[in-house]
Amino acid sequence: MVNFQINVKSVMRIAVVDKEKCRPERCNHECKLFCPPERNDVDVITIEKTARINEQTCIGCGICVKKCPFDAITIINLTHEAGKLVHQYGENGFRLFNLPSIKESKVVGLLGRNGTGKSTTLNILSGITKPNLGKVNGDVSWHEIIENFRGSEIQQYLERIKEKKIKVSYKIQRIELISKTYADRKVRDLLDGVEEEIIKEMGLDILLDRKVGTLSGGELQKIAIAKALSKDADFYFIDEPTSFLDIKNRIDVAKTIKLKLKDKSTLVVEHDLIILDYLSDFVHIVHGFPGAYGVVSNIYHTRRGINSYIEGYIKEENIRFRDYSLEFNYIKESKRLKEKLLYVPKMKKTYDSGFFLEVEDFYIYEGEIIGILGRNGLGKTTFIKLLAGIEKDDENMCDFDLKIGYKPQYINLNYEGSVESFINENIKLNEDIKNHLMKPLEIERFIHKEVPSLSGGELQRLSILYSLSMPADLYLLDEPSAYLDVEERIILGKILRRYAEQLNTSLFVVDHDLLFLSSVSDRIMVFDGVPARRGYAKQPVDFKEGINYFLKTVDITMRVDEETKRPRINKEESKKHIEMKSKGIYFEF
Ligand code: ADP
Ligand code: ADP
Ligand code: MG
Repeated sequence: MVNFQINVKSVMRIAVVDKEKCRPERCNHECKLFCPPERNDVDVITIEKTARINEQTCIGCGICVKKCPFDAITIINLTHEAGKLVHQYGENGFRLFNLPSIKESKVVGLLGRNGTGKSTTLNILSGITKPNLGKVNGDVSWHEIIENFRGSEIQQYLERIKEKKIKVSYKIQRIELISKTYADRKVRDLLDGVEEEIIKEMGLDILLDRKVGTLSGGELQKIAIAKALSKDADFYFIDEPTSFLDIKNRIDVAKTIKLKLKDKSTLVVEHDLIILDYLSDFVHIVHGFPGAYGVVSNIYHTRRGINSYIEGYIKEENIRFRDYSLEFNYIKESKRLKEKLLYVPKMKKTYDSGFFLEVEDFYIYEGEIIGILGRNGLGKTTFIKLLAGIEKDDENMCDFDLKIGYKPQYINLNYEGSVESFINENIKLNEDIKNHLMKPLEIERFIHKEVPSLSGGELQRLSILYSLSMPADLYLLDEPSAYLDVEERIILGKILRRYAEQLNTSLFVVDHDLLFLSSVSDRIMVFDGVPARRGYAKQPVDFKEGINYFLKTVDITMRVDEETKRPRINKEESKKHIEMKSKGIYFEF
C-alpha cells in the first residue's frame, strides 16, 4: 500500500462538508472518485445523504475541495494548536475553539468575520447551546465540560450555567425573527416592563401603538435593545446592536449600553469598529476560516485588540490570520483638477406622507467618490432615487442622460434560481469583472446556493457585483456595508477606490459606518433636517470640512489612532474632547 503520510505538516485536520451544498444525487461523487487514498482502497469518504470525510484517514491534499462541483468541501490543515475544542456542529461541521472571558462590570467585545462562531459563542454562554467538546456522537456531561475548563476563568461561569443559577439577557442578532413572531402585537405589549426612561431615551414612545410587523429595521433594533437592557440579569449578551441604525442612533445606543450596564458583565458582537472601540473595555479577536472553524483569541485591551485585528496579526500569540494589514488614508489626491461629469440642479421633492426634501445644486467630478452622511429619514434614499431616475423631483429639474449603476438599500433581486444562473442571465462576464469584482467579493463561495436562501451578507455582495458590473458613468450605492463584516467592508472600500482612481468613474455612497465612509470618500455630502418631516441636502464639500460639519451635528469629536490611523471617538468627559470642541475641530487627523 502506498504511504500517504503527507506533504502537509499539520497538528489537526478539519474537514467540513456544507450540508446544504452537498448533493450526492446530483454529482458523480467526484470527492471520492479522485481522493488519492480512496484510489488505493483506503476508506476516507462515505457517501450517504451527504459526503462524510474521515479526518483520520484524510491526507489533507485538498483534491476533493477542487473537484466538488458544488464547492461543498473545506479542508483545513492546522499547523499549530488552535485551542480548546468547545463545540462542533455534527460530523464534518463547524468547530469553535476557546471561549471568551467574562469580566465583571466591563464590556467585552467580540471582533471577527461572519461565520467564525460569534453567535455560537453567545448561545453557549447564555445556556441555549450545551457545548459538546467536539464529541458529536454521544452525550457529554456537564461534569466533563467543566473539568475541561478547569483552572480557566470560564470554569465558574459554566458551573453556574449547569446549576441554572445564572440570569442572562440576550439581544439576538436576527431581529427580523421578533418581527415575524410578534407581527400582530402592539409595540406597547412588547415593551411591557421596560423602564419609561429607556423608552423615552430611545425615542420609542412614538411607536407604542404601532404593530410590530410594520416597524423598520432600525425601529425593531431599538426595541430589541431596550428590552434586553431593561431585563434584570447578571450577564448581558448583545449581538450586533448597530445593524439598521444611523450614526446618531449608533452612538446613542452605545452610550445607553455603557450607562445602563456599567455594573454588569457584558459581551458585545459588533462590526462597526468605531462603535466597538467606543463601547468596549476589552476585546477578543475571533479568527479562523468562515464556515469551517473559529478560534477565540486571548483577551486584550480594546485599543491593542482592534489594532491587532487591523494588522491581521496577534503578536502576543504569534498568529497571523490575514496576510495584509488594513490601511486608512483620508486625504485622496485632489479631484478638483479633473473634468466635471454632471451638474446636479437645485431640486425639491414632496411625498404624500408629508416628507419634503430640498437639494442644493452642485457639480459631480469624474473619478470621485461622494460619501453621503445623515440620519435615517432625511431623504438620502430619495435623493439617490432622483439621480437614478426612479423618482421624479417636483419641478422635473433632474433630467440627464447618463448610464447609472444602482444598488438599492433594500435588496430584492426577485430571482428564483441559483446564484450561478442569476449571474449568467444578468451579467456580461469578462476577465475584469472576474478578477476585480467576483474574486474579492468571494462570490464563488456561494455560487451554487439558491438566491432566495442567501444570507444578508451574501445577498449584499451579489447585489454589489450586479450593480458594479453594469457599464456606467455614475454608480449609486445605498448602504452597501449593511450585513458585511469588517474585512468585507474594507475589501468593498478597495473595490470602490479602484473604480474612482483607475476607471475614473464617479460614485455616490450612502452609509452609516464612519470608518468605511472615511476610507472611501473624496467629498462628503451631509443631510440635515427633521427625520420623516423635512430633509436638506447640502452640496458636497471636502472630506475634512464635511466630516467636521457632520460630527458637529452629532456632538462627537474623533482623533486618529497613532499606530493604525483608524478613527476613534473621544470620550465625552475627556480633555481631548473638550479641547477639540472649543476649537471647533471635530476630526483631527
Ligand atoms: P458568526 O456569528 O460569527 O457569524 P455563527 O456562530 O452564527 O457565526 O456560525 C458559525 C458557523 O456555524 C457557520 O458556518 C454556521 O453555518 C454554522 N452553524 C451555526 N449554527 C448552526 C447549527 N445550528 N447547525 C449547524 N451549523 C451551524
Ligand atoms: P433615508 O434614506 O435618509 O433614511 P428616505 O429617503 O428613505 O430617507 O425617506 C425619507 C422620508 O420619506 C421617510 O419619512 C420615508 O418614510 C418617506 N418616504 C420615502 N419614500 C416614500 C414614498 N414613496 N411615499 C411616501 N413617503 C415616502
Ligand atoms: Mg435610506
